[in-house]
Amino acid sequence: MSYTAPATFTERLRHFDPNLRVRWSNRTHTFHIESKVGRAAEIFALPHDDGAIRRRDGYQLVCEVTAGSRMWCHQQVDEQGTMCGAPLTVPMMEFREVRCAKCRKLGFDGRYVYGYFGWTERLLDHLRWIDPRNTWRDTVVSGNDRANHAADAERERDTLNALTANALEFRAAMTGLTSVYLNDAQRKGNHV
Ligand SMILES: [Zn+2]
Repeated sequence: MSYTAPATFTERLRHFDPNLRVRWSNRTHTFHIESKVGRAAEIFALPHDDGAIRRRDGYQLVCEVTAGSRMWCHQQVDEQGTMCGAPLTVPMMEFREVRCAKCRKLGFDGRYVYGYFGWTERLLDHLRWIDPRNTWRDTVVSGNDRANHAADAERERDTLNALTANALEFRAAMTGLTSVYLNDAQRKGNHV
C-alpha cells in the first residue's frame, strides 16, 4: 500500500522549497521528505530500497514523517532483512529521539528521530528551522560527492579484481592447470 501527502501540503512545500519532495517509503511505512541534491543516475532500485531510490533520483533524506502517532520499529535484525517490528510511540509536534527497548536489549541501535505533525504548518516550521536550503544542503552535497567518489573507487577496484581473476584463469588454461596459487615470492615476480 502506498500513500501520498495531501496536495494542499505538497503545494505549500513546493512554495517553501521547490527542491523538496514527499515520498512514501514502502520499507519504513513513513513519509520521507527529500531534497534534490544532484543529478538522477541510471541505477536499478527495488521498490523498498530507499537508499537506491534516492541515489537514482538524485535526492537526499531530510527527515521522516510518520503517518500517525504510532510506528513499527524497522531496525533490521537479521541478514534476511527481517525487521524488529516492536510498536513505538512517536513524539507529537516535535522531532525527538525514540528508542526501541527491544532492540536495545538485543544490542541493536534502535534509535530514531521521529515526529508526528500531521500535514500542518508546524512541519513546515520545522523544515524552516533545519533549513534544508542553506547550511544543511551544503553538508549533504559534499557528503554525496564523497559517497559517489567512494562508490566509483569501489567499482574500479571490482573491475580490476575481475580483470586480475580473468588473467589468472587464462594463464591456468594455457598451462593446463586447473587453478593458480601465487605465494609471496611468486607475486614479487617469480611467476608460476
Ligand atoms: Zn526495535
